[in-house]
Amino acid sequence: MNHPAIDHDATHLTPEDLAALRENLNEQRLFRNEQLAQLAPAHPSRADHFLERQAAAQLEVRVKLAASARMVLADVEAALRRMDEGRYGVCHRCRTRMDREHLLIVPQARYCTRCRHLRETSG
Ligand SMILES: [Zn+2]
Repeated sequence: MNHPAIDHDATHLTPEDLAALRENLNEQRLFRNEQLAQLAPAHPSRADHFLERQAAAQLEVRVKLAASARMVLADVEAALRRMDEGRYGVCHRCRTRMDREHLLIVPQARYCTRCRHLRETSG
C-alpha cells in the first residue's frame, strides 16, 4: 500500500507476464494437439463381442475427452491470436481488462471473473 503510484497496477500485464503467458499457451497448445492425436478414433477389433462393447465404451470416453481437448485448444489458439493482435487480456463480454492474477492461472480465459460468474449462474 505504501508503494508510490507507478505506471502499472495489479491488473496490468508486463511484457514479462505476456512472454510467460505466451509460453504457457504454446505449451498447452502442444499438449492438447498431442492429446488429440492420441485420442484419434481407434479401429476396434471385431473379433470379440465383449471387446467390441468395451471398445465402444472407451470410444465414448475418448470422444468426450477429445471434445473438451478441442475446446481448450480453441480457447488457447484464440488467446494466442489476441496476443498477436495486441488485445489480449480484455473480457469478451464487458471489455474490461481482466485480472492479471486470473490470467496467470488461466491464460486462455475469455471472460473476467464477474462475467464468467454471470455466465455460469445464468446457464
Ligand atoms: Zn467481463
